[in-house]
Amino acid sequence: MKTSRFLLVALFAAKAQAFTVVLDYTYDSTGFFTSNLVAKAALEQAATDLSNLITSPLGAISPSSMSFTGNVSGTTATADWKLSFSNPTTAAAVELTSYSAAAGEFRVFVGMRSLSGSTLGQGGPAGMGLNFGGGGTESNWVAAVSAMNTASNAVMMRGGGPVIGNFSGNFTLGATDGAYSLNYGAIAGTLWFDNDADNNGSADGDLSTYWHFNHATGVGGGLNDFYSVALHEILHSMGFGTGATWDGNVSGASWLGTQAIAEHGTGANLIDTGSGAHIADNTMSLTLAGSLSQEVVMGPSIVTGTRKTLTELDAAFLQDLGYSVAAIPEPSTCALLFGAGVLGLAVWRRRAA
Ligand SMILES: [Zn+2]
Repeated sequence: MKTSRFLLVALFAAKAQAFTVVLDYTYDSTGFFTSNLVAKAALEQAATDLSNLITSPLGAISPSSMSFTGNVSGTTATADWKLSFSNPTTAAAVELTSYSAAAGEFRVFVGMRSLSGSTLGQGGPAGMGLNFGGGGTESNWVAAVSAMNTASNAVMMRGGGPVIGNFSGNFTLGATDGAYSLNYGAIAGTLWFDNDADNNGSADGDLSTYWHFNHATGVGGGLNDFYSVALHEILHSMGFGTGATWDGNVSGASWLGTQAIAEHGTGANLIDTGSGAHIADNTMSLTLAGSLSQEVVMGPSIVTGTRKTLTELDAAFLQDLGYSVAAIPEPSTCALLFGAGVLGLAVWRRRAA
């Protein structure tokens, strides 16, 4: 029965992954990632590198109805969540009343869009909507709402990572207010890349003079590195730059989080005030893979012809957002670093990411 034992070992190894970015191509309705497997590989590599860095044990999202009820002697209060986001390809509103995730899984819905100006990509956490229901006797109402609140937060905060959003107020039965404060965490994200280099409002057929897709080769002069932008947008989808925990750590141009302050020496002028969602432009740190000086991944822009890999300061921000990170990055990041080289550093045209 030795083969069975090996199989079990493999299964346990797979389960030990605390955090896994799962890229979801459901909404790639133009088939971009089906036809461009080099671009898909770069995107998947960015997901793998972040999965290897982050060790937060995100809890499973279950049941898939995302419905949580407090029941006190037959008096019930129910919160029904729904996932709400923009279709990454068409921008149409998507609502999912049924959604589940395995332990550790963070799903990101991806696509391509026509983006105006110099924007290379956009990403963010999926939004959440909420409906309440319930009824019974007023004397049990406050306890029922409280039990509903506890049950919801136990699942929807996922036991780690940032608070993305909060709904708080009173759910009222008769003359009785039941106070609630419902948080949701890193449930899911969305991102999309620009497919309109000439900004004429429609997708370009040939993007090879705009994007550098291959993450295993140096970035060509004048091209925008797909891997770097993928890293950047996945991080946005995880709550880097948006969400309650991010907002709570930003005060004007200052970052208040202790880990990034310890890493950088100060939080003053560490935030890009133009967007409020990035580390300040031109902020340098050391790459996790090779301890080389490089502009952080989560600055507001990237220089054409260059690649960014994760830095110590990017990781420190992740810690301030509630993620735990591994001390030593995986070798795959290392290989990427050496692939990047210093190609095209003379090209200073900057593109927003
Ligand atoms: Zn950004």
